Amino acid sequence: MSKQIRVTVWNEFRHEQKNEVCRALYPQGMHAVIAAALQQDPQLSVRTATLDEPEHGLTTEVLDQTDVLTWWGHLAHHEVSDEIVDRVQQRVLAGMGLIVLHSGHFAKVFKRLMGTSCSLRWREAAEKERLWVVNPSHPIAAGFGPYIELPQTEMYGEHFDIPAPDDLVFVSWFEGGEVFRSGCCFNRGLGKIFYFRPGHETYPIYHNAEVMQVIRNAVHWAAFAGNDAVIPFYGKCCEPLEPLKVRE
Ligand code: ZN
Repeated sequence: MSKQIRVTVWNEFRHEQKNEVCRALYPQGMHAVIAAALQQDPQLSVRTATLDEPEHGLTTEVLDQTDVLTWWGHLAHHEVSDEIVDRVQQRVLAGMGLIVLHSGHFAKVFKRLMGTSCSLRWREAAEKERLWVVNPSHPIAAGFGPYIELPQTEMYGEHFDIPAPDDLVFVSWFEGGEVFRSGCCFNRGLGKIFYFRPGHETYPIYHNAEVMQVIRNAVHWAAFAGNDAVIPFYGKCCEPLEPLKVRE
């Protein structure tokens, strides 16, 4: 039997408390809906964490027990403490998977891991979006046809200032004419990162079964699949090797 994957669903959890439309869609918060959808997969053990908890809910203990972290933030990126950003970054480099959702493109930890501004163009006009599968053999695309269609979304457009992704799974087309790299894979240290675009807080995006299937697939893809024995040594391998014994 395959190993359980321990997932922590992190949410800033501010729009739900300020915005009526968002609250109506996500009365218990987006994290509750995302967690419930992930929990449908018996191989996933899911917990949640939010910004206003002590240490933003991301204590060393929680992160040590997290194989994959999902991240939703927007209004309060600047309130995430640098200490926690350092901690999450280190865990990613040591093999934790990270799935960054929607406006998380501007999260401190994502910008840190990318090393670029991560800026983009946007418009909120309830546009239709098609996420075209541009890499059908990728595990995150498993089970999908040529595209996923969302009837009403916020538009994100290029140029998206990220490094060239190690793999690209989805490219979005929008009714207004823009395109966007919507599903991007990156390797950083021992960790795998997936950026997934859909998720604006005033549309029912995380109630969409296909969107949640992408995120479940991404959790499986991002979970560390290498040799666990290398993890404790990650970042500590700068010691000189033993001298070569020269034959006489
Ligand atoms: Zn948005």
